[in-house]
Amino acid sequence: MTIDPGTQGADVLLVEDDHTLRTTLELALQLRGCTVRSATTLARAREALSQRRPELLLLDLGLPDGDGLELCRDMRRARDPLPILVLTARGTLEARVAGLRGGADDYLTKPFDMTELMARVEALIRRARWRPGHMAFTVGRLRVDPVARQATRDGEPVELTELELKLLVYLVERQGEAVSRADLLRDVWAMSDTVQTRSVDVFMSRLRKLVEDDATDPRWLQSVRGVGYRLVP
Ligand code: CA
Repeated sequence: MTIDPGTQGADVLLVEDDHTLRTTLELALQLRGCTVRSATTLARAREALSQRRPELLLLDLGLPDGDGLELCRDMRRARDPLPILVLTARGTLEARVAGLRGGADDYLTKPFDMTELMARVEALIRRARWRPGHMAFTVGRLRVDPVARQATRDGEPVELTELELKLLVYLVERQGEAVSRADLLRDVWAMSDTVQTRSVDVFMSRLRKLVEDDATDPRWLQSVRGVGYRLVP
């Protein structure tokens, strides 16, 4: 099972006055599925923030009309929790401490490694977005986006009922654990176990057809004898 890096569709505001770095960053972010808006001054950055709230702010400090740290401080004063990653040539310990004290969530000194920057971008967005059951995931041949309520098998759209989606998310959140039919009935079906446990098996066999290469020899949705099921990561 894999969980997407989490940057897909993320709205990023990039504030950077250096043309070469800005275009490089725009491209790198777009390649990871982000929507990027750019600003080259503090004033433009404030304007862009007021128009639409991004999910992440990548902020240079040395800008033509002022210090990016002012914007950072203003946002934190206004109790805005927007994730902010500062990118700057100011690499001294004092500068880094000032950046973090000014409200930055993370601080990277130029020149930086693009892979490291992207890993930090992903981590900040994932942390901001993460709520159990809200991340897109892939099990076997099935890819599920719980928020959009969309699923595809080998790229082809498939219909998942509300209950099937709930069941999959439940198993994904407990991947590697044996989950009993009684647990599933209580937590997913919200019924007592006096209801036929057979109905769990019926749903599981339908999910196996979506997930597995061979539903009769499951790789991901395995049976646990005498207990129930386990989603194998
Ligand atoms: Ca600059």
